[in-house]
Amino acid sequence: MSEPTNGEQAPLLPTGGGPTVNRTRPANPKVRATVQGVLVAVFVVGLVVISVFWENLGDIVNGLPKNPEKAANRLLDAAPVIDGHIDLPILVRSLYGNNASAFDLRKQMPHHVDIPRLRKGKVGGFFWSAYVDCANPEAEGEDFLNSTWRVRDTIEQIDIAKVLISKYSDTFELATTSLEVKAAITKGKIASLIGVEGGHQLGNSIAVLRQLHALGVRYVTLTHVCHNAFADSCGFLEGIKPKWGGLSPLGESLIKEMNRLGVLVDLSHTSDDTARQALNLSAAPVIWSHSSARAVHNVPRNVPDDVLKLVGTGPGQKDAVVMVNFAPFFVAEPGKADVAAVADHVEHIANIAGKQHVGIGSDYDGIGDVPKGLEDVSKYPALIAELRRRGWNRFELAGLTGRNLLRVMAGAEKIAKELQAAGIEPSYDVYDKRTDLPDRDEL
Ligand SMILES: [Zn+2]
Repeated sequence: MSEPTNGEQAPLLPTGGGPTVNRTRPANPKVRATVQGVLVAVFVVGLVVISVFWENLGDIVNGLPKNPEKAANRLLDAAPVIDGHIDLPILVRSLYGNNASAFDLRKQMPHHVDIPRLRKGKVGGFFWSAYVDCANPEAEGEDFLNSTWRVRDTIEQIDIAKVLISKYSDTFELATTSLEVKAAITKGKIASLIGVEGGHQLGNSIAVLRQLHALGVRYVTLTHVCHNAFADSCGFLEGIKPKWGGLSPLGESLIKEMNRLGVLVDLSHTSDDTARQALNLSAAPVIWSHSSARAVHNVPRNVPDDVLKLVGTGPGQKDAVVMVNFAPFFVAEPGKADVAAVADHVEHIANIAGKQHVGIGSDYDGIGDVPKGLEDVSKYPALIAELRRRGWNRFELAGLTGRNLLRVMAGAEKIAKELQAAGIEPSYDVYDKRTDLPDRDEL
């Protein structure tokens, strides 16, 4: 094909001077003004196009806008927060005596959680904590044998969670598996899981665990702030003297039964020895539903580095997700807890255990005080924006907001299926200090 030679097919702009090039030079001022106007308009449109392109440059490179706040919101639209620990049920018990008609979750609630703020914070799911506190140690006795109302109260807390999930069923949907969580989120619902916060809520009984599982409970924290028949706690702000040196023999049976049922082993609140032994024993991935990093703020409730190093998929490690707690006294020195301090915990856990092993377990409604900038459930985007500023990409952020937890849940479900398919029987072990059952050795 030959080059065009006639004037009509020559390039519109000259590529070099020469007498043969036709130059269009409007002599008429009106025409000149029109051309200038068009050029200005083209320039302005060009600027707009460039700025839009610049704004979305991150989108093209990384799938997210460049602006961290916009990036956080965009990310959360696709990968909403699944929080490991929300204490709304105990708030409802203490403020309203579990009377679901005494308040409206569609309006502003006291403390940190209600439907408008959950929506604003782009929450896709959370574990409703069916928590009741430890019994008075003197009333319960040294071996936890005196009867308390903990099992009744736990069932009441499961009940109020389910009552609220069903009362506001246009917002919430009960979920008991990772697939049900995803299905609820896909429908625009807030997936509602149930966790029980302490072995003291099981009445020393593995049979009670089985029935709580049947009610929909999908994690049990091995201890709260007290030791129990299954395991040692880390105490609260001060450490406490161990009773068992980690897990009791019944605690070992409990973990095996949790693995068989598909109830996640939650290691928040436990002693370091309990955590190490449970990590070693559990066939399934485990969680910390609401715990931060001890190397960032040194309190026994936070997870130490040597335990974090046991988390992962390498030899001697267990898959797990450590879901960072926002409680200011676990996050930083008094007055110092803010979004950046919480992000420091997230990053430290990610640095030691890997970004696939960190999540969010705010403890909202279970904490009196809150970090600056993370005042309630509407504020999760601020944490995501902070981590975005620190260079987290969309896959890492989506892991943090919920996918790491979903992976761990799916892993525990798989192990449960395998154990049941292999015909592993339920555990019939009983607490050896009980005297109300006949001695099996003598039967
Ligand atoms: Zn707690």
